[in-house]
Amino acid sequence: MNQKEIIELFKKTNVIQTGHFELSSGRHTDTYLQCAQILQYPEYTNKLAAEIAEIWEEEDIDLVVGPAIGGIVISYAVASKMGLRNIFSERKNGKMKFRRNLEVKKGEKVLIVEDVVTTGGSVREVVELLEGSKADIVGISSLVDRSNGEVKFNYPFKPLLKLKVDSYKKNECKLCEQGIPINKPGSKNVKV
Ligand SMILES: [Zn+2]
Repeated sequence: MNQKEIIELFKKTNVIQTGHFELSSGRHTDTYLQCAQILQYPEYTNKLAAEIAEIWEEEDIDLVVGPAIGGIVISYAVASKMGLRNIFSERKNGKMKFRRNLEVKKGEKVLIVEDVVTTGGSVREVVELLEGSKADIVGISSLVDRSNGEVKFNYPFKPLLKLKVDSYKKNECKLCEQGIPINKPGSKNVKV
């Protein structure tokens, strides 16, 4: 799938919504992004997972790791497609860990898969965790890089979609200036 086809699928499944939204930070934006919307449909999830699997098919990988919660479903789908093991990391008292006796062995070759990369914070925490386990990080993929390529990691980073999402302070919002009412991000049922 090319970038245009991915954007179309994300619009169809309500991952990308356009309008006039207020973010939890209080800032306003014309684009609302919610990857969980597409991950409710296994058919589409598997399609995206196949795209990520294809990016890395030439690489030698043992394990796919996803940070909870956003990375759990898509990392599992990628691992399933590639026939690999999958585990997730999660925060306990603010610190990223492997819990539930899940573990990574020294030297295991790992692909990290996340849903959305905004500042890259969660991925960096997983990178540190894996480096601590002396795992061998092969690379990182996400469904969306919403920094439009501004986020950098010390390993190859290959997102499916690069998107630049602008947001504005309330008193500097162009949409408010035009008198456009605020929308509530909604979900709709999609036929699969
Ligand atoms: Zn506004």
